Amino acid sequence: THFGYETVEKSKKASKVAEVFHSVAAKYDVMNDLMSFGVHRIWKRYTIERAAARPGQTILDIAGGTGDLTAKFSKIVGSTGKVVLADINESMLKVGRNKLVDNGIVGNVEYVQANAECLPFPDNYFDRITIAFGLRNVTEKEKALQSMYRILKPGGKLLVLEFSKPALPALSKVYDVYSFSLLPAMGKVVANDSESYKYLAESIRMHPDQETLKQMMSDAGFDEVEYTNLTGGIVALHIGKKF
Ligand code: SAM
Repeated sequence: THFGYETVEKSKKASKVAEVFHSVAAKYDVMNDLMSFGVHRIWKRYTIERAAARPGQTILDIAGGTGDLTAKFSKIVGSTGKVVLADINESMLKVGRNKLVDNGIVGNVEYVQANAECLPFPDNYFDRITIAFGLRNVTEKEKALQSMYRILKPGGKLLVLEFSKPALPALSKVYDVYSFSLLPAMGKVVANDSESYKYLAESIRMHPDQETLKQMMSDAGFDEVEYTNLTGGIVALHIGKKF
């Protein structure tokens, strides 16, 4: 049936995502710096600024991977606060935990293996939720956004940092060449894994554009949803509140 086909497609996507991140985990940080020419650090710093977190708060970094945002939040919330780094992928979680522990980021960070589509936390629990470069890998994005809304405290904020649609057609062309040719080639040379980086390029192209994601967040219940384009819309930061 049509539904049967959809289920197969969905489980195929989920196992592809699991395979990709298991395969790239060890080289993830190096590749991130190379692929974005280090700019992902600026996108993440901006996200932290906009989160405006405070000491004592409880924060969820879902699809947190190797923990860049978690590390920054951990310093901000301090010993009276807590950051939960959650990811569906055991290999990414392990690399993340080892990195943070090695850097002395301990005491207020917890690690949870969880799927963004059904987050195992109580209602109205977190002051801030971030998902950076994670949502495009999630099979059922609507379900994930609803799950995030449920566990966000009233007065809290969700921040979604993700690849988006470049604003200028010329930039779009350059970017296409970059992501479909250069990216897999770099993946091959550095990580001996062009397939995973091909997947990444495809997942970026398939991801909803700025306005579509904004609407999806509103549909999931978020209030005052807005977005900011970064690097000409290659990336966008969407923010939604819960009143
Ligand atoms: N947030 C980190 C960063 O910005 O560097 C890691 C981003 S990495 C590109 C995407 C992460 O999403 C991977 O660690 C992957 O395992 C995770 N992921 C994919 N699907 C997920 C899901 N359904 N639920 C939770 N995490 C998921």
